[in-house]
Amino acid sequence: MHIKLKAGHGMRPRPAFVMGVLRMAALLVILIMSAVIWKSCFQQQGAWQTTSSSSTVDLMDGTKCVALTFDDGPHPVYTEQVLDVLEKQQVHATFFLMGKEVECYPQIVKRMHDEGHLIGNHTYSHINICQTSCQEALQEVTRTNDLIYDICQEPVEWFRAPYGCASDSLEQKTQMIWVTWDVDPLDWSCQNADQIVNHIVKNVSENDIILMHDAYPSTVEATERIIVQLREMGYTFVTVEQLMMP
Ligand SMILES: [Zn+2]
Repeated sequence: MHIKLKAGHGMRPRPAFVMGVLRMAALLVILIMSAVIWKSCFQQQGAWQTTSSSSTVDLMDGTKCVALTFDDGPHPVYTEQVLDVLEKQQVHATFFLMGKEVECYPQIVKRMHDEGHLIGNHTYSHINICQTSCQEALQEVTRTNDLIYDICQEPVEWFRAPYGCASDSLEQKTQMIWVTWDVDPLDWSCQNADQIVNHIVKNVSENDIILMHDAYPSTVEATERIIVQLREMGYTFVTVEQLMMP
């Protein structure tokens, strides 16, 4: 009876004591886990900031960047109209030129260069490098580089393959920086300024490269509207070089 009472008496505070210890332990575990999670988040954020600030323009000063690129020019009519828009809006773009058009319209290439736009190579005759021998493709690239160099007196470092074809062997041989794109409004196909603008506004994000062709009146109209609308969305326009090598 006594023992029973003692035992009974002794048993009562025990669950409370155990519960107290368990609560303390649980609290301690929660505190430790919170500290671990906080530390992990902090380290990830630090790593992200370090990586981003060294590889992109925007995080340096909080600017959202985007690059306008124009392929297949220079066109005798519409390239100068695009240049007029860019001059009016104080925007620098990147032009990937075809050598055979450079030969025909060197004064337009000179204007591009003088006005601070970046000039890249888009082969001499818009060949599909995936269906051409490496030697022939290299000749097209070299010939175009020489033509642009004669006008601008600067080596051409940037290349965009027609149709976005990839060729590791040619890429190695050209020793140029190959550029693709992120947003393609298919301006050459739709030739409709509304569609071009809507596609870009809907699909653009930070550090994107936008692909267009300075060969259509619809692209000229769309270019000005895109600049105005993207600026309202907080974007700053840069060349491909500024975007990729800040
Ligand atoms: Zn092209």
